[in-house]
Amino acid sequence: MSYDMNNIFAKIIRGEIPSDKVYEDAHVLAFKDIRPQAKVHVLIIPKGPYISSQDFSEKASDVEIVAFNRAIAKVAKAAGVAVTGYRVIANTGPDGRPEVPHYHVHILGGQNMGRMVSLD
Ligand code: AMP
Repeated sequence: MSYDMNNIFAKIIRGEIPSDKVYEDAHVLAFKDIRPQAKVHVLIIPKGPYISSQDFSEKASDVEIVAFNRAIAKVAKAAGVAVTGYRVIANTGPDGRPEVPHYHVHILGGQNMGRMVSLD
């Protein structure tokens, strides 16, 4: 699978469609999820063309990977959940069932997030 330059997050990075920005630096962009599933729901994406967590972890530079992980703490502070806590989710591959083929993590919080997953 090759990277789709026209996926919705690529368009957000290029400024072709708007986003409700929470944080940005040279390597990372974070914005509010358009269909929030918690009181706080922010997406963090690398600016580089990576499809998934697997793709990013295999191919991104050390600088990009460090910037991405540092951004998690910065976004949590900006979103007001650094102290109260939050859940980080990355849906990956056929079983993870991501909707958008550009690597992103979900930051979910602002409330008790309950059990991690249902195995029913
Ligand atoms: P995933 O299922 O892990 O791929 O999550 C993709 C997320 O992107 C979903 O939670 C969507 O609500 C969110 N999303 C889709 N389009 C947009 C958009 N234009 N702006 C913000 N969030 C979006």
